Amino acid sequence: MARTRSPLDRLRRPEYTGENRCLPCTILNVAIASVGTTLLAAWLTAAGYPTAALWVGTALLAVSLAAIWLRGYLVPGTPTLTKRYLPASVLAAFGKAPPDSPDGIEAGAGRDGQTERSAATSAETADATVDPDAAESLDVEALLERADAIEPCRGDDRCLTDEFARAWREETDAVREAENLSPWLEQLGLEGGDVATMDRGGAFAVDVNTRRVGTWASRPAFEADLAAGSLLADRVAEWESLPAHARGQVCNGLRIFLETCPGCGGPVSFGTETVESCCSSRTVAAVTCDDCDARVFESPVDEGQAAA
Ligand SMILES: [Zn+2]
Repeated sequence: MARTRSPLDRLRRPEYTGENRCLPCTILNVAIASVGTTLLAAWLTAAGYPTAALWVGTALLAVSLAAIWLRGYLVPGTPTLTKRYLPASVLAAFGKAPPDSPDGIEAGAGRDGQTERSAATSAETADATVDPDAAESLDVEALLERADAIEPCRGDDRCLTDEFARAWREETDAVREAENLSPWLEQLGLEGGDVATMDRGGAFAVDVNTRRVGTWASRPAFEADLAAGSLLADRVAEWESLPAHARGQVCNGLRIFLETCPGCGGPVSFGTETVESCCSSRTVAAVTCDDCDARVFESPVDEGQAAA
């Protein structure tokens, strides 16, 4: 590294500050610093040093607040403590609920987000099938089976049909080599245009024309969805009428059936693991590529379910 780190940089804890700052931790630590300072000042005042109380108190509070600003916390271990003991509802109030798994297209990201949202609002009173939030109303498995994408196998299980698996692989290769993703984006109900991607390890965010359209588990997962969208458009009669978020749900549901990696073609493994973030930890079920490590499917699991 060519850049010399300033003393401030050395004290800084990026994992607990900036966009990772845990607001509950910060508030708790500021409260601890204030109470501690007040008690010390009161004790010094009672002992007959009111001037010292003022100076020492002010200095101590300043140092404490600087530490919280730089490090994210004052009392060692509070990020872990809030993660473990703060109920999810409290974390949610601070916008620190366990993050949703990256599952593709965001609600309202459709070609005309405005229309989609107003459709969803009126759907609450009328027809629930177009509500992008009504996950249950869309039977992903039945739709995929009707599209001959999956079929019963190994008893109760479902597997990709050989024919669909092959077509999906070929289409994914075409997506990967394409210069212009617009035709595929449109099959997912999204606007075509300039695509910008940000890979933040485990979260592959995609912007089209500077607007965030969704977050995928990895680039191969995103490319697999683009490919699946164009295949399903040919196979599902109502595809055109599904809002973008619903199309995303279908593609996400399809990725759980992957048996080879859409990125490198290697084998994939299914398993559960714990994902840690600033104020929370969550268990996810994941399909991960053995060779290139790409996460191709991820879904949150209840703690109870995971233990069972
Ligand atoms: Zn791979």
